Amino acid sequence: MIIGAIEAGGTKFVCGIGNEDGVITERVSIPTTTPEETLAEVAAFFKDKQVDALGVGSFGPVDLDESSSTYGFITSTPKPHWNNFDLVGELKKHFDVPIGFDTDVNAAALGESLWGAAKGLDSCLYMTVGTGIGVGALVEGKLIHGLTHPEMGHIMVRRHEEDSFDGRCPFHGDCLEGLAAGPAIEDRWGKKGQELVDSPKVWELEAYYLAQAIANYVLILSPKKVIVGGGVMKQAQLYPLVREKVKEILGGYVQSEQILEKMDEYIVPPGLGDNAGLAGAIGLVK
Ligand code: ADP
Ligand code: ZN
Repeated sequence: MIIGAIEAGGTKFVCGIGNEDGVITERVSIPTTTPEETLAEVAAFFKDKQVDALGVGSFGPVDLDESSSTYGFITSTPKPHWNNFDLVGELKKHFDVPIGFDTDVNAAALGESLWGAAKGLDSCLYMTVGTGIGVGALVEGKLIHGLTHPEMGHIMVRRHEEDSFDGRCPFHGDCLEGLAAGPAIEDRWGKKGQELVDSPKVWELEAYYLAQAIANYVLILSPKKVIVGGGVMKQAQLYPLVREKVKEILGGYVQSEQILEKMDEYIVPPGLGDNAGLAGAIGLVK
């Protein structure tokens, strides 16, 4: 089976060809400009590939309710031009094949459970800390959907007493994404994260917010593995800081060996690296 995979992001659309074992043989990156321009390039890439099915993990919010008239749409995104865009419908115009569709982070959680850091587990979280913060969740073998889909990057966290940064989420101000995504780090400290490697205070504060969120996810969903990726997590010193704080916040209450003794194996980087999204899109077809 030839599976086409699309990781539709706000900065770039990564397209690839793979098989049902998650092996990716070809990939291209297409800049996200206008829907017309971007989709034309996506269609051109897949044109002669004879895919049997397409899997699409998309930035959101997206409509995942198959009975809805706007199923497959990107809905209330603040990203110019993409508001209420019929992504699946547009792809269907070009390719008469089954299309699996979910959020980018749900797809990545699925990919990691099939072939990555959560291989063999029926429960995991995939969190990305990049331009935004998004979290996908696999629970009892299923990706979580509900009214729409969870938006765990936008939860409220307790503010650090020394942090006076307003927060920059266009919807909520100082939600987690507003305080801790890459652009918030840049606004608060006046430099991009990449240039703040030698400022421990930056990463302690970052870990303070990320750990609160992860502790909340652990308390609500009890994931068997927490995978954290995205550009900001290229600062590998964040992992031990986050693990320590999560443990501290949970205070010995959650009686699991994973949390009490094996935190290094519990909160981990993506096993599939930068391929988590594409592999996940393949997983949506499976
Ligand atoms: P996206 O979220 O758009 O898919 P990324 O996951 O690469 O893209 O996230 C981009 C964000 O991550 C930017 O805000 C950038 O400043 C930040 N970032 C990228 N690399 C690093 C790094 N090495 N250290 C800290 N922050 C980084
Ligand atoms: Zn928000």
